[in-house]
Amino acid sequence: MSPKQHEEILVTTLASGHRVVLPLHRITGQQPGPTLGITALVHGDEPLPNAVLRRVLSEVDPSQLKGTLLVMPVANPLAYEALSRQTPLDGINLNRTFPGLPNGCVTEQIAHAIVTQFLPQVQYLIDLHSGGVFPTVDYVYLSKLRPEMSHAFGSPLLYVGHGFKGTLSGIAEERNIPSLVVEIGGGSMMDDVYIDRGVCGVLNVMKHLNMLDGTPQVTVQQTVFKELIYLHPHVGGVLYPEVGLDQLGKVVSGGTLLGRILSPYTFEEMEIFKAPFARNYMILVRGAITRVNPGDFVYMCANADVA
Ligand SMILES: [Zn+2]
Repeated sequence: MSPKQHEEILVTTLASGHRVVLPLHRITGQQPGPTLGITALVHGDEPLPNAVLRRVLSEVDPSQLKGTLLVMPVANPLAYEALSRQTPLDGINLNRTFPGLPNGCVTEQIAHAIVTQFLPQVQYLIDLHSGGVFPTVDYVYLSKLRPEMSHAFGSPLLYVGHGFKGTLSGIAEERNIPSLVVEIGGGSMMDDVYIDRGVCGVLNVMKHLNMLDGTPQVTVQQTVFKELIYLHPHVGGVLYPEVGLDQLGKVVSGGTLLGRILSPYTFEEMEIFKAPFARNYMILVRGAITRVNPGDFVYMCANADVA
């Protein structure tokens, strides 16, 4: 048996006859150890983590691996095909749908297949996310079961998190599987930098879990923040950033103008966004002039004074 295998989980068949299949890559180490599951593209508009996993799969040597790596590089193929956060067929966000339903709509069935056929095989989970088509993001969530695993990834900013309902990581931790959610890169900005950091972070976690020799290389000062505000627009239009990619991860003072939404028809100013806390870590930014719709993520700011 080859130490590197490709498998598939069949979810369902659509009316078109097309089968919805989830890809799985399995690397079986030559020495015993835990199974680490890694997922990407739970949100279909976040392709960068898929590129991280391509590199991880090519760089992990089975002769050096203790345990098993189980990688699902595309968790929602229909959403990825549309480059969309939601599944186009039913309009549902997979990461609010776990544990899913066996006879539900297609997104619920994908969630159910992941929970029943992938999750029971893993002892630890990394769920890789990104900023999406337009925003760029940089933080990780602190695992409640194993916070050291989150620190080991090596990102400078960590969030205690409040837990959305129906997430893959939430369901996994309920089932006693320590889970790390990573938010890294996006917006087609500095992809090489974020892919390198993502690969290094995954290998760091594998060292922390003793699946690889060595100790995690964490070269940055790490800050845990507790308060996070999502800035969503009330109206759609064109976002002109005032605070861009160079400020990601940095602190800006309260009231700083972050960006403006203009009408693409009349060019009038529709809405402005200001930094909400006295001191703000910039957690998610927009690095370019982009389309925004009501409810999109425009900026994310963390309270730098409660960290
Ligand atoms: Zn996501």
